[in-house]
This record gives sequence, C-alpha cells and structure tokens, in this order.
Amino acid sequence: MKIDVLTLFPEMFSALNHALLGKALNKGILEINCVNIRDFSLDKHQKCDDAPYGGGAGMLMTPQPIHDAICHLDPLHKAVRVYMSPKGQTLNQQLVEEYAKEEHLIILCGHYEGVDQRVLDLDIDKEISIGDFVTSGGEYPAMVFVDCISRYIPNVLGNSETTKEESFAQGTLEYPQYTHPREFLGLTVPDVLLSGNHAEIAKWRKQQSDLETAKRRPDLLKK
Ligand code: SAH
Repeated sequence: MKIDVLTLFPEMFSALNHALLGKALNKGILEINCVNIRDFSLDKHQKCDDAPYGGGAGMLMTPQPIHDAICHLDPLHKAVRVYMSPKGQTLNQQLVEEYAKEEHLIILCGHYEGVDQRVLDLDIDKEISIGDFVTSGGEYPAMVFVDCISRYIPNVLGNSETTKEESFAQGTLEYPQYTHPREFLGLTVPDVLLSGNHAEIAKWRKQQSDLETAKRRPDLLKK
C-alpha cells in the first residue's frame, strides 16, 4: 500500500519509523510519502494560511497549495483521498479494515482552524475523525489512522501477533491476559490458564471477554 500524507509538518511523521510500522516500511510492504504542502504554495513567501472570511479566531489553510499537491500526486483521481477532521466519520475497526484494502491513500492533515471548504469539496473523498475532541492538527490523527490500517495489511504483523482475537475484532473487548511470573505481589494467574486444557481456556476467555464488554462497553453488545 502507498500512503501520501499531506502536511505542513512532515518531520512529525518520523514517529512512524519505529517498531512494527518501521519494519513494514523497511520491508517495503508499506510506503509512506510525506509531502510538505508548503512546497506547492505559489505565494512568494510560500504562505499556506490566511484569515477566515467573515472573521473569527485563527487562520485557515488556503486551498491552492493543497489542491495543487493533490493533483500532482493523483492526477487521475485513482487514490482514495481522506481529510482528517473532527467533523468526519468516527474511525472504528470496520472502517480500518476497509481502508487497509486500498492500494493508494492520500491523507490530508489540517492545521490551525482547519482548511478552506472549497478544497474539501473539490478534492476530498472522505473525512475521518479519531473521536469527539479537537487536536491541534491532523498529524497525530493521521498517524493513528496509518498505524491502525497498517496492522491489517498482509505480512505487517508477525505470526505471534494476531488481529483475530483482540478487542473489537469479534465485536467485544479482549479477555484479561497474564504472563510470568505465576505470582506477582500476592496476585496469582487464574488456574484455568495453567491447566493446558485448550478448550477450557477458550471457554474461559470467551466468558471473560463477554463480561468485560458488558461491564465497560455494553453498547458494543447491543450491536
Ligand atoms: N476548527 C475546526 C478544528 C480545527 S483543528 C473545527 O472546529 O472543527 C485543526 C486540524 O486538526 C483539523 O483541520 C483536522 O485536520 C485536525 N483534527 C482535529 N481534531 C481532529 C479529530 N478529532 N480527528 C481528526 N482530525 C482532527
């Protein structure tokens, strides 16, 4: 999969060069191309923001550099173009799995008070939010989005890490997990996990998963 990220702060994306994503990038399973929107500004000072018409606090990102950058990267509109936005559809596991199947994504990160509406109308296919709150820029939301979808790209996760049994995969939250030592500060590991009885372990995990979901996220069970 190829992802072009449009941002005024490409350096921030160095955070993606580590751990699992770093490995996927090194292996070439995933390609992330960070594009500085400023490079496309036709303004003599490469300005990319201006005051909003009608007044109000803060600055808005101007449409020209964003439009030109998108047309340069995707002249035939073959990519799916996403704008990270608090007004967008809230990201969930189902959306993550859908986006992971795409071959080419373009992700636009807003900043300041956001982006001129016209470039969204002209060039963007979909707006995605990472939750009902406002971050100072689209960079962290874009990194969250890229991280989640990359886990669903074949061969990004190793055999030991699976997306099948984790929270949300089956519509419920994950069961409690334990590792060594067997006893820690007086707290022991549930006996069933030491039994070696795989059927019993699977049954216990399913029960715990349902209990955990009922307690913390009853809304998920209704779905
Ligand atoms: N004035 C806007 C918020 C701008 S925040 C409003 O009230 O809706 C600046 C940028 O951060 C946005 O352009 C967007 O790209 C990003 N952003 C903020 N919150 C976000 C969220 N919850 N999900 C995704 N992107 C978000």
